[in-house]
Amino acid sequence: MGIIFDIQRCSYHDGPGIRTTIFFKGCQLRCAWCHNPESFLPGPQLQYFSHRCTGCRACAAVCPHHVHTFKEGVHQVHYSDCTACGLCAERCPNQALKLIGQEMSAAQVMDVIKRDRSFYETSGGGLTISGGEPTTQPEFLLELLGLAKKESIHTCLETNGYIPEALLTKLISLVDLFLLDYKITGAKELYQHTHASGALWQHTLATLAQQNAAVILRLPIIPGINDTPAHFEHAAQLKRDHPCIQAVEIMPYHAIGAAKWEQLGLSYSLKDLPSATPRQKEHWQALLNAFLSVQ
Ligand code: SF4
Ligand code: SF4
Repeated sequence: MGIIFDIQRCSYHDGPGIRTTIFFKGCQLRCAWCHNPESFLPGPQLQYFSHRCTGCRACAAVCPHHVHTFKEGVHQVHYSDCTACGLCAERCPNQALKLIGQEMSAAQVMDVIKRDRSFYETSGGGLTISGGEPTTQPEFLLELLGLAKKESIHTCLETNGYIPEALLTKLISLVDLFLLDYKITGAKELYQHTHASGALWQHTLATLAQQNAAVILRLPIIPGINDTPAHFEHAAQLKRDHPCIQAVEIMPYHAIGAAKWEQLGLSYSLKDLPSATPRQKEHWQALLNAFLSVQ
């Protein structure tokens, strides 16, 4: 069994063609700009939408752990005491509470994936597994990919690249295309913004290159953090050094995830940062193209 927090059918941005994207819960990094913070924890968790709450206190009446309290009429949610039993979300009359993360078997997920088989066949699409970081649920991931291969469905894995070697070796035979995040250039900056060290990521890329796996390098670009010429230049150099990298794609920052951090009881350090503008996106793409054109 695995824990997933979303399934998007008819997705166009996670690999070639029309795809079904499965979002796994759990991630070992904490990227400051993450737009899926509901993926951080491995298990189910509570999300609270304050704008829908009328203060009826039905949640407080049912919660066995006193997670919901009211101070001078203001609803306070003590997330750290929540055991994700889901009682309050069931009882809330206004959908102000939601339990994120559902346990499903690989066969159940495959049943959903197979419904869109005709779209895959006509568009060259297939299954994309995303997250979170899918490799934090290794057995479930391998089982699901194995089922997809049996059905001859094209598979993409969206990953941060922090993959233990033994698992990566197994994945290479089951994944048709790796969508590999390249987050930031510079060890100090990487640790500051993601809490990761780059050694395992580099080993992953080297192994993918050795095994001649197909890779698209994906660059989340965050204004003021990694939109530097040096970062684009290094991404282009990685492509030159690793022929397995078929393309380099920019994923411009979007502030869409900011509200979710608060809804999960987390503090968002980039809350004043607006989404990238069309002008910024054009500028970044031009920079990247210029560096990619260098032989
Ligand atoms: S999910 Fe359960 S433990 Fe968590 S706040 Fe709701 S009722 Fe309380
Ligand atoms: S049950 Fe829903 S609407 Fe009522 S106080 Fe709780 S969160 Fe707010």
